[in-house]
Amino acid sequence: MALVNVMENIVEEKLHRMLEAEDCCKCERCFEDMKAKALNQLPARYVSTHNGELFSKLAATVRQSTIDINVAVANAIDVISAHPSHEGQSAADEDDNG
Ligand SMILES: [Zn+2]
Repeated sequence: MALVNVMENIVEEKLHRMLEAEDCCKCERCFEDMKAKALNQLPARYVSTHNGELFSKLAATVRQSTIDINVAVANAIDVISAHPSHEGQSAADEDDNG
């Protein structure tokens, strides 16, 4: 059994989708910053997962709070892309590990 914050999966998925339409830095660092910012604005939704139940729990959580999630993710993209935590606008292509 594992505990998962399904909100984290949802935010990550939404970020990927919404960033496709955005013309901003999408490097790993900005992505993580956006994800953290959005998650801090949203309630954590921990579920225990057995045998791939995760998907139905994800879907239920999405249905409950789609608007909040969209707003939080859009806001996070706005703020982080305007003030990336690294220098410059272009994605720094540092390859740390992996
Ligand atoms: Zn960046």
